Amino acid sequence: MRSLFIFLLMGMLFKGTAQFDAYFENKSLRIDYQHAGNSTEDFYFLDEVKIEPFWGGSRTNLIDPFGYGEYQIKVFDQSSGQLIFSRGYSTLFMEWQTTAEAKKLQKSFSETVCLPLPKKPARIEFYTRNRAGDFEKKYEYAFNPSDYFIHPEQRMIFPVFDVQVNGDPSQKVDIVILPDGYTSRELKKFKKDCQQFAGILFSFEPFRSNRSKFNIRGVLAPSQEPGNDIPADGVWKNSILETSFYTFDSERYCMTRANKTMADLAANAPYDQIYILVNQDKYGGGGIFNQYCVSVSGNLSSAKIIVHEFGHGFAGLGDEYVGDVSYNEFYPLDVEPWEPNLTTLVHFDRKWGAMITPGVPVPTPDTKEYEQVIGVFEGGGYATKGVYRPVHDCLMNTFDGDVFCGVCRDAIQRMIDFHSK
Ligand SMILES: [Zn+2]
Repeated sequence: MRSLFIFLLMGMLFKGTAQFDAYFENKSLRIDYQHAGNSTEDFYFLDEVKIEPFWGGSRTNLIDPFGYGEYQIKVFDQSSGQLIFSRGYSTLFMEWQTTAEAKKLQKSFSETVCLPLPKKPARIEFYTRNRAGDFEKKYEYAFNPSDYFIHPEQRMIFPVFDVQVNGDPSQKVDIVILPDGYTSRELKKFKKDCQQFAGILFSFEPFRSNRSKFNIRGVLAPSQEPGNDIPADGVWKNSILETSFYTFDSERYCMTRANKTMADLAANAPYDQIYILVNQDKYGGGGIFNQYCVSVSGNLSSAKIIVHEFGHGFAGLGDEYVGDVSYNEFYPLDVEPWEPNLTTLVHFDRKWGAMITPGVPVPTPDTKEYEQVIGVFEGGGYATKGVYRPVHDCLMNTFDGDVFCGVCRDAIQRMIDFHSK
């Protein structure tokens, strides 16, 4: 019986990865491009295509079931036309498009997408979500494995250390932590901060009960100077990832434009998610779905910043708070946002209706009576009117509470399952 069981199990595993094995090698194809435009237009310009040594993603879940993100790539096998991989993501460029500056200026941002390395010629299509919320094809790249300009050179090789490793990257959520503003003498501190990161992440649900489904690794890449950039204070530091406060002139928004360095450093380990830890006490961070997250390591609020930003980067959660002057109409009120924890009520049927107890009014009054229940509360996604959130408070809203709301926990769990099965 036992051998039959093992045989059946092996059969299931084989079936699960057969698609992957037929079309992909266990490495990554990395495509760097410039994403350029203004508030209304975007264009893709190919920069570089290279091969990275690891693929950290699932080998069974190849097609994106979520539909999250402002962008999507779709990979088709050239000869059969079959869709063999897809993935949604967001970018800093898209956020910039909603700022006042993008109405006056054209800019370009370096971006990167990674996919498992196709064995055969493949067509890679790039999609941008339009104003109505639908994906429009914007760019296409024909990959040919015999193209000798696609190089496997690793530009920035640094030692990697295990923060916690629980198994095969294809069945785990793999986080690679990159240091910014740690000098070579401070890499010991970085190691300690990585342990603290893991301790923090797994003190919040649903991460705590899924701890064994995560691998976390750190890359020991030193910076020339400690700390990072604070432009409004005239502070400029020579740090390896060039993170900076005042992104889009929002003081606490700490992000990087050094996209290619980030991708080069991350390539030292298999990963699904990039997390940048900044050696800094000033309050700040940021997170972009399926791109990267940033948090400072030394602020009193670091714990909550770390999990809040990971909510964005990993699970595509939107901000449930109100008011951020740097964004102009971030969520059009006649379109249902793709974020699982926000709604404009245009298509609430696609959201968390099933989690609302019968008798709770929709929209839900933001009163003491409904403070602890899942409902539909007006105010969220930076807007006071027309955008709704699931609860009175959540870690995606303020840091007063200590928990993700039920809707956010559910969305995080679905993403963990996608990566680890
Ligand atoms: Zn929430």
